[in-house]
Amino acid sequence: MARIGVLALQGDFLEHENVLTRLGQQAVEVRRPQDLLDLDGLIMPGGESTTFCRLMADFGLYEPLRDLLSQGFPVWGTCAGMIVLARQALDLPFPTLGALDIVVDRNAYGRQVDSFEAELSVPTLGEEPLRAVFIRAPVVVSVGEGVEVLARLPEGPDVPPAGAGTAVAVRQGHVLATAFHPELTDDARLHLYFLDMVAARQARPV
Ligand code: GLN
Repeated sequence: MARIGVLALQGDFLEHENVLTRLGQQAVEVRRPQDLLDLDGLIMPGGESTTFCRLMADFGLYEPLRDLLSQGFPVWGTCAGMIVLARQALDLPFPTLGALDIVVDRNAYGRQVDSFEAELSVPTLGEEPLRAVFIRAPVVVSVGEGVEVLARLPEGPDVPPAGAGTAVAVRQGHVLATAFHPELTDDARLHLYFLDMVAARQARPV
């Protein structure tokens, strides 16, 4: 069983905890630096990235998180979590953690499409398409060379036209990020994928 921290400052951390528990893992709520001790990985949920950043600064979480990230600690950000992990987040009046070489534009899908759903092809998870829920999602506007794109937005009746083709699931080594919310659907394949990343790190010779 892995001990997975879930940043619990605001947002939909409970939904991630429920999936982790269902998968037989231990979910640990993270609010203070000491909560980061003895974790095997961390999930940063959806929510409001400005609120995350303000509270991360208030609770002294920026430095310990940057330290962990620089050591190859497995972290997965969904939606607001993706924004906070990015190298640069347009329209975010706070520093990001800069752990993932992508640039995101917050809320750039536009007000008229606050939410939409799409069927994603994610080859690394198998042939079955993944139903993805986007809620005021960030648009990934640029992806660095070392970043693997796991899924792109297809064209579709509900998909904002400007969004088709943009990266919505990316990985750079120990950092995973999705613009959508796998914690809001029953399909746990991305949580299992992240747990594999955690297990791979645990298996590393020291
Ligand atoms: N638009 C939100 C932000 O800027 C993210 C929305 C979400 O996490 N569902 O943080």
